[in-house]
Amino acid sequence: MKVGIVGAGAMGCLFGGFLARELQEVWLVDIWKDHVNQINEEGLCVRIKEKCEAIIIKATTNPKDVGACDLVVISTKYDSTQDAVKDALAMISDETVVVTLQNGLGNLDIIAEFVDEEKIVYGVTTLGSILKGPGIIEATVTDEGKTYLWPLKGEPNGKIRNAIDTFNHAGLNFILSPDVKERIWKKLCLNAGLSVPLAIFRLNCGDYIKQSHALELTRCLVSEIVTVAAMEGVKLDPELIYQEIVELAKKAPDHRTSALLDILNHRKTEIDVINGAILNKAKQNNISIPYNSVVYSIIKVLENTYDYRIEDL
Ligand code: NAD
Repeated sequence: MKVGIVGAGAMGCLFGGFLARELQEVWLVDIWKDHVNQINEEGLCVRIKEKCEAIIIKATTNPKDVGACDLVVISTKYDSTQDAVKDALAMISDETVVVTLQNGLGNLDIIAEFVDEEKIVYGVTTLGSILKGPGIIEATVTDEGKTYLWPLKGEPNGKIRNAIDTFNHAGLNFILSPDVKERIWKKLCLNAGLSVPLAIFRLNCGDYIKQSHALELTRCLVSEIVTVAAMEGVKLDPELIYQEIVELAKKAPDHRTSALLDILNHRKTEIDVINGAILNKAKQNNISIPYNSVVYSIIKVLENTYDYRIEDL
């Protein structure tokens, strides 16, 4: 099987690295030249629990070098998805399965503008990874990580099952799951209700959940999101989800979410596909979700004012 990973960041390198241990033809495609050069010269370093494994894998900035693949994984952040997919068309043939496990709501719609819906498989993953520098990632969740997928249109065919088997042979736990839409909304609750507030307050999970006002904020955010999800045909129990989020936070007290890392690194966050996307759905359904609206506005202001922030007395 020939695989192309478009967006060789934290997650793209995690998928690509695991697959390249098993397969001959795995390509990483990224616009970051230094990263691509480092991978071609020294291999990709996948660090798991302090141990670094150098994995030989092909990397390029040009999707045309790769050509048509059996499996293409789109793994950029939302802002880059459109450009990445347009370029990746050089890697997509009639036979290609195109997978997205990107967070939030919105990436799928962009991909479906350019790629036939029959080819697209979408889902959600509990795997985690951090890009440490050119050619280096740190896998934060691997063995216990699970990835749930389902085709955007119709039932899983032979090509899709083949692609899922390939991930599983590489040691990643990929599961065909018809309830993937529900899982995506649950992850939205986690990201919008916990990860984003952690970025606003600049706290890790453990310190956040000690604050009763913070927990109340999470509860209100989740309650609004569950209302919107119901209008989109997904039924969730707000109290159960709130409890699950608190339990997850308890299990990873030192965890710093990607939204927090984005804010600390003065980068754009993925707020537009998280609370922002939920706000858009609420507007379409003529309901108001004030807690999510305020959280969205705060992150937007933070993103726009990195250069003017008062840090000292
Ligand atoms: P990242 O920022 O580490 O990687 C994105 C990569 O895309 C970068 O290397 C960037 O150079 C590259 N890129 C940008 N424009 C491109 C283009 N036009 N063509 C090719 N490459 C391009 O991001 P990430 O953390 O790997 O996240 C990717 C997706 O996975 C996001 O939707 C994120 O929410 C989701 N996700 C991340 C994690 C995690 O632990 N990091 C976990 C679950 C889901």
